[in-house]
Amino acid sequence: MNAEALGLDSRAVHAGREDLAALGVHVPPIDLSSTYPLPDVEAGGEAYEHMASGHERAPGQTAVYQRLWSPTVARFEEALAALEGAEAGVAFASGMAGLTATLLACVSAGTPHVVAVRPLYGGSDHLLATGLLGTRVTWVDADDVGEAVEPDTGLVLVETPANPTLDLVDLSALCERAGDVPVLVDNTFATPVLQRPLEHGASLVLHSVTKFLAGHGDVLGGVVATSQEWAGRIRPVRAITGAIMHPLSGYLAHRGLQTLPVRVRAQQEGAQVVAAWLRAHTDVDRVFYPGSEGSDPAGLVGTQMSGPGAVLAFDLGSYERARRVAEGVRMITHAVSLGGVDSLIQHPAALTHRPVAEEARPGAGILRLSVGLETPEDVVADLAQALCA
Ligand SMILES: *Cc1c(COP(=O)(O)O)cnc(C)c1O
Repeated sequence: MNAEALGLDSRAVHAGREDLAALGVHVPPIDLSSTYPLPDVEAGGEAYEHMASGHERAPGQTAVYQRLWSPTVARFEEALAALEGAEAGVAFASGMAGLTATLLACVSAGTPHVVAVRPLYGGSDHLLATGLLGTRVTWVDADDVGEAVEPDTGLVLVETPANPTLDLVDLSALCERAGDVPVLVDNTFATPVLQRPLEHGASLVLHSVTKFLAGHGDVLGGVVATSQEWAGRIRPVRAITGAIMHPLSGYLAHRGLQTLPVRVRAQQEGAQVVAAWLRAHTDVDRVFYPGSEGSDPAGLVGTQMSGPGAVLAFDLGSYERARRVAEGVRMITHAVSLGGVDSLIQHPAALTHRPVAEEARPGAGILRLSVGLETPEDVVADLAQALCA
C-alpha cells in the first residue's frame, strides 16, 4: 500500500500502521520501555551514535533509550508526516518543547535571529520576547518580513489562522518574501485537514498536538513536520534536552489522527452555525472567524485553507461582560486549550495571552471559543443564556 496515493482521510486512518498485519495485531502495540537490551557493547554504541546524531533507529538496531527514540512515538511521527506531506515528523512532550528545540537548532547553527509575525500564541510570543534561548526577535507584519531579514536570521515564524483573533496570512507570499530563510508555520488551528503549509513554501510545520490532533483533552504534546535534513538537526536537540513525547501520548495522538478529518469538518460545521448566530447578536461587537464576510480580504479560505476551521473569537466590548459570559456558560467548559471534542471558552488577555506585551495583547472584551462536537444549537443556547444572564 502506497500511503501517498491515498486520500487524506485514508492516510489518517492507515498511516503508521502498515506493519501491523505482519505483526499479527490490529492496533499498534504500546512500548513503554525506558531502556532497551543491548546486543553487545559495539552495536549498542553504534546505535546510540546513530540516533544521538539525529537519525531514526535503523532497521534491526536496538532503540537504546526512550529519550533517543521510541517506536510508539515514531508511528505517530510517521502518520503526521504523511498528513502534512512532510518527509519526517519529530514529536515532543508539548508544542512549546517543539518550538524550543527548533529555536535551539537555529541558535546552535549560529543563526539566532528570528523574524516573527504577530499575533502568535501567547507562549510562543513570550518565549521569543524573553530571549531565554539566546534568540533575538524582530516583530513584523506579514508584509514586512523581507525587510526584517538579517544575515544571521535563522527562522521566520508565523501562525495562520493566528491566535486568538484568527488573522490569516498568505503563506505563499510570505515564503517568497522570506527568500532563503526557512519559514516555520504554526498550523495548530488549521490542522493538515484544512491547510498544509509545506505546499505553500514553508520549511517547517509546528503543531500543539494537545489541541486538534489528539483532540480529546487528554494528551500534552507537540510535533514538527519537516524535511529529513531539518529533522536531523532537531532530533539531537530533543535527545539532549529530554523533550521527547511520552509513548502513551504517542499512542493516543496516533489514534486521534484517525478521526481528525471527520472531527475537524464536523466541528467546523458547528462553528459556522455559532459564528452566524453571534454575528446577528446585538451584544456582540465583532466576530473573528475566517468564514465571516469581510474577514478574509485575500480570499485565502477556499485556496490556502479548505475551510475556516472550528475556532472563533468575539468581542463583547468590555472586560466585565466578557468575564460574565466566560463564567456563565453551563455546557461549554470555561478553560484554556482548544480543538477537543467539547467546546471550550476562555479570555485570552487574562489567560493564554497574559504574558504578551501590552501593545500586542488581545482586547479585554474578547473571548475565544473552540467549538466541539456537541449539537451546534446547544452551544448557541448556552451562549445565549450566558449573554443574557
Ligand atoms: C497551545 C498552543 C501552543 C503550545 O502548545 P502546548 O502543547 O501547550 O505546549 C502553540 N501554538 C498554538 C497555536 C497553540 O494553540
